[in-house]
Amino acid sequence: MKELKCREVGGLCDFIASGETGEEAKQKLMIHGMEAHAAEMSVMSEDDKQKMMDKMDEMTATQE
Ligand SMILES: [Zn+2]
Repeated sequence: MKELKCREVGGLCDFIASGETGEEAKQKLMIHGMEAHAAEMSVMSEDDKQKMMDKMDEMTATQE
């Protein structure tokens, strides 16, 4: 099970996205971000978004 915590990838709350695969957890966290933190997401640069995605890949890669 892969888990990504909102706060650990630069987010603002303790929401945890989980999935069978890293990709699934990442998708869920992105959807959460767009719903819960739309204002913050909209002002993030593409570069910052990419860094956040890389961080998510890095974190799920080390999980079982
Ligand atoms: Zn959040």
